[in-house]
Amino acid sequence: PVNYRHAFHAGNFADCMKHALLVRLLHALRRKETPFAVLDTHAGRGAYDLSAPEAERTGEWRGGVGRLLGLADAGPLADYVALVRALGAPARYPGSPALVRALLRPQDRLVCVEPHPEDHAALAARFRGDRQVAVHRRDGWEALRALTPPPEGRGLVLMDPPFEQEGEFDRLAASVALLRRRFRAGILAAWYPIKHRAPVRAFHAALAAGGARDLIAAELWLRAPTDPARLNGCGLVVANAPFRFAEECGPMLAAMLAALGARDSGEGWAVTRIVEE
Ligand code: SAM
Repeated sequence: PVNYRHAFHAGNFADCMKHALLVRLLHALRRKETPFAVLDTHAGRGAYDLSAPEAERTGEWRGGVGRLLGLADAGPLADYVALVRALGAPARYPGSPALVRALLRPQDRLVCVEPHPEDHAALAARFRGDRQVAVHRRDGWEALRALTPPPEGRGLVLMDPPFEQEGEFDRLAASVALLRRRFRAGILAAWYPIKHRAPVRAFHAALAAGGARDLIAAELWLRAPTDPARLNGCGLVVANAPFRFAEECGPMLAAMLAALGARDSGEGWAVTRIVEE
């Protein structure tokens, strides 16, 4: 059963972080004319109404995209903030499928996977009749095997699981290893929560042990990651990052922290290479 509902969290700091980096990765793919495919294995409903009861109940978006929209100059986040605004913020917040769709060219494709019946229905309705987007109702982990490598031979796989079940870090590490074998040329982006450090260290170690090459981790935390019950920060593991992406991440994360952070002495960001090229 799928219990997690992203509508409570849409536009929060974790969404901003993953989506700002995702937008940067998509811009890198657009540098070459040849077609690319994007596979979004945990796609959600595609867009979220920020005045809905779910979003209002947590108010998480106000501390996330709400603050970024208020910046006079978003600096290195400007592409992302402009796109989010063009897609309806602050009334609506785009999910990853909407962001990706907005950056596809006529030759590119998006494949979304979402098993939750309501979210799948919303996503399928959104893209009905769109020949560049396919929406599958199935398990994202299993879809990875079935739907890769894409015939285009280039593109990106986003893995953004809800982390509500035991073993999600293990499944994510195994999937990164699998994809590095099946779709070597592909860019992979895998989101993970930072509650406390121990599980993150174990995850990075599992990635290194899995034999995948060329992995970086971009991380942002709003507080010292010591309380295992809170989402203190989050990270994105990127395999096969485009030229200069690792260098570009730092200023983006710094700008995000300046806008979203609480000026807590425990806050911070890091871009680290987990496994060499
Ligand atoms: N990627 C989305 C975005 O950036 O807008 C947000 C995704 S949300 C964090 C995680 C999603 O995974 C939820 O919509 C949930 O229904 C879905 N989900 C849960 N279990 C899944 C599974 N086994 N396979 C694929 N998706 C799953």
